[in-house]
Amino acid sequence: MTATATATVPAPPRRLIDKVSTVLTIAVHLACIGVFFVPVSRGVVALAVGSYLVRMFAITAGYHRYFSHRSFKTSRVFQFLLGLVGTMSMQNGPLWWASWHRHHHRHSDTPLDAHSVRQRGFYHAHIGWFLDGGGENPDLSNVRDLTKFRELRWLEKYKWIPLVGYGVLCFLVAGLPGLFYGFFLSTIVLLHATALINSLAHVWGSRRFETNDDSRNNALLALLTLGEGWHNNHHHQMSSTRQGVMWWELDLAWLGLRALSWLGVVWDLRTHASIARRRVAPASR
Ligand SMILES: [Zn+2]
Ligand SMILES: [Zn+2]
Repeated sequence: MTATATATVPAPPRRLIDKVSTVLTIAVHLACIGVFFVPVSRGVVALAVGSYLVRMFAITAGYHRYFSHRSFKTSRVFQFLLGLVGTMSMQNGPLWWASWHRHHHRHSDTPLDAHSVRQRGFYHAHIGWFLDGGGENPDLSNVRDLTKFRELRWLEKYKWIPLVGYGVLCFLVAGLPGLFYGFFLSTIVLLHATALINSLAHVWGSRRFETNDDSRNNALLALLTLGEGWHNNHHHQMSSTRQGVMWWELDLAWLGLRALSWLGVVWDLRTHASIARRRVAPASR
């Protein structure tokens, strides 16, 4: 820990429950070794991939583009559903996630950023900040628009119930292979793919916009995370639902949200272009 970071971000004492959280995250990593001891089949691989994709959509479209940035609108029921599936991803509840993410945008790559490669290195930005307790006790005053919903506060408080319930479901669907491939392995790959946006997407890739941070656009990360790899575009215009700017910048979460908007499940989706048009419109009247 650097002297600067210690001075600017005093670490609160760790509560027992937070230490349990770190131990369980490490335990789930170790549990992945189990895939070498259970039979693998096409069905189980499909379960693992499906489990990854559905939960990545909940993280990307839900935790990030909806809860953190409110970049589109939806019903209270679908809002809960996004939060529920996100909670099954072992990335804490939607309030925790959105609070730290808003904090990241506010202090990107400064000493106050909780996860910055520039400030404290790759490992710390990737997962160290979370494992060493730096992500505990978020200041929820920056997510008051979310804490007003009691069902979201419930999800936050009982975040382990959906997560464990999902593990049990994978076991019931396909036995031990379902548990090890569909839950443990899929959850860990999902965790690291998400974490790469905090680490690698601030190091490797191109920069279209001169933002005040190190954010990059990276096609490989965009593919892995259903569109989050267009991170420089995102830091430039964080309230855009779509993170790809050019037609060829594949953003699968955006395409999924477009499809949901045709069904009336979500609405008021935004793009970089639509936000720019809205800004120009009042002045030209
Ligand atoms: Zn970032
Ligand atoms: Zn963001």
